[in-house]
Amino acid sequence: MNDRIGNDMTDLKPSASQGSPFRDEFPELLVKVHGHDLVYLDNASSTLKPMAVLDAERTFYSTSYANVHRGVHRLSQMATEAYEDARRKVANFIVSRSANEIVFTKGTTEAINLVANTWGTTCIGSGDEILVSAMEHHANLVPWQMLCQRSGATLQIVPLNDAGALDLEALDRMLSPRTKLVAMVWVSNILGTVNPVEEIVAKAHRVGAKVLVDAAQAIAHRPINVQSLGADFLCFSSHKIFGPTGIGVLYGRCEHLDLMPPWQGGGDMIREVEYSEATYADPPLRFEAGTPPIAQAIGLGAAIDCIERWSWQAIQSREEALYTHLQEVLDHVPGLRRIGYAKDRIAVQSFLLGDAHPYDVGMLLDAMGIAVRTGHHCGQPLMKRLGIPGTVRASLSIYNTHQEIEYLGHSLHKVAHMLGISS
Ligand SMILES: *Cc1c(COP(=O)(O)O)cnc(C)c1O
Repeated sequence: MNDRIGNDMTDLKPSASQGSPFRDEFPELLVKVHGHDLVYLDNASSTLKPMAVLDAERTFYSTSYANVHRGVHRLSQMATEAYEDARRKVANFIVSRSANEIVFTKGTTEAINLVANTWGTTCIGSGDEILVSAMEHHANLVPWQMLCQRSGATLQIVPLNDAGALDLEALDRMLSPRTKLVAMVWVSNILGTVNPVEEIVAKAHRVGAKVLVDAAQAIAHRPINVQSLGADFLCFSSHKIFGPTGIGVLYGRCEHLDLMPPWQGGGDMIREVEYSEATYADPPLRFEAGTPPIAQAIGLGAAIDCIERWSWQAIQSREEALYTHLQEVLDHVPGLRRIGYAKDRIAVQSFLLGDAHPYDVGMLLDAMGIAVRTGHHCGQPLMKRLGIPGTVRASLSIYNTHQEIEYLGHSLHKVAHMLGISS
């Protein structure tokens, strides 16, 4: 270990924009944590926000704010245009055929619950099967458990191999005409595994099953084209792609959304209301009861503009270089064990240090200014399957730097030393 990069990060980490061309846009990176420069490696939980997103919300609230879809007055029309413009941006971003295929929700979780409660309630019955993988986030597991309890359908779990890759042969064996839905994460928030979703969609469609893709992680790391992917539903959250909290997206193919009943009732989702009954608006408004997250939609639109300005090519090549560097650094930490080493992985690395509890490692890193996630990462069944209490997870984004990764490696050496872990 190199003594020169010893006690503090100051000699390691250049401040401000040095090291990443994207850093200047993210004001929170200037925050100090326990007296150290913040090293934010919790991007799979949520990303930091660029100025352009903060500005977009502030400008909206201070110049053209009003409720949408309700008023003939000028400001309400401006707000409606801005909200619908955000919807078109999302549609273009994921290359959907029409903005009508984009439903705004609170996030990935609500999008999946929406599908379970509308499409699920009408299309899933007793004897049907729903397939999910063993690496699902609770958001793509619990709503299906609840649907199965209501409907008498059964939930099947597609296993993983030891590296954390999906067992595709098992998937082949499990798919049958009874399979009505395959709900699958594209990129695992715990293992970083990238699932071959195009292949999975094709296999599922061959037996007549529909496919829902949890793209909560994938959306941050690669361009998505829902038409070439061919999935029936796809979900993601704004806050993991530099946008505000409180908004997410359900993409659904028109032919499905058209047939789905509403979920929540209220204003905005209706066509005609009598005291005894109501008729419903067409999608997407049918699924957006009540005043929607207007400013958040505008913020999400601004985040998409940022990604397009930065370019996927720049984002991907930067993340790849950082990820490779992270792997090299972790290789040298004594007693470090990777959790998740499938061949196709992205931006996320879970690990354990000797026998240390992940919380202890996380707390010691926090004291050094490093934000990593510790625990089960909303994947308790997977932790049980792996026989571990949780992991420490470092997850990367474009504003991270090679110096930060060196500093992480360095700090992990210190932590290992403090906890008496040798190899
Ligand atoms: C974060 C995440 C979710 C849940 O997203 P919310 O924004 O909390 O609704 C679901 N699946 C995966 C893979 C995630 O990473």
